[in-house]
Amino acid sequence: MALDLTKYVASVPDYPEPGIIFRDISPLMADGEAYREATDQIVKFARDKKVDMIVGPEARGFIVGCPVAYELGIGFAPARKKGKLPRPTVKATYDLEYGQSALYLHKDAIKPGQNVLVTDDLLATGGTISATIQLVEELGGNVVGTAFLVELKDLHGRDKIKDYDILSLMEF
Ligand code: AMP
Repeated sequence: MALDLTKYVASVPDYPEPGIIFRDISPLMADGEAYREATDQIVKFARDKKVDMIVGPEARGFIVGCPVAYELGIGFAPARKKGKLPRPTVKATYDLEYGQSALYLHKDAIKPGQNVLVTDDLLATGGTISATIQLVEELGGNVVGTAFLVELKDLHGRDKIKDYDILSLMEF
């Protein structure tokens, strides 16, 4: 029987600020069986999509996407914050509660026409994943799916990416 992955997410009230419940996936990563189970579920979702590349935003998008890329025998490209990627990049900005942030992707990370799976640990408002999708599409990539460990239903991030196939392994 499949593991109950929700048991491996630690819910931390009032972090990083009052009123926020932080959903910490580090217990899941720390448990080999749970990490493998989560990875296997995403691999299953990706297999019939003919995925060529995986892209994930820093830092927990790497933790989710890299083992899937390894298992599928395909590549992974990191979407990163300002000043982290050394070669020419494309940029996408997105709104935070206060102000804006930006993500960058190397210009040669995706070849036009490649099928891309976008991964992150958690879908909240959908801003981070939308920016990541925008980067992939600017390079001519075809986003064939998005995959998350956790989805925060009340924040309706799903509405922002409703044109894409979404897998979330757990809902809170
Ligand atoms: P959003 O852009 O609003 O969808 O936020 C998603 C990003 O912020 C993900 O990369 C998460 O790692 C992080 N995040 C947002 N809210 C939480 C939360 N309650 N617990 C843990 N991570 C969060």
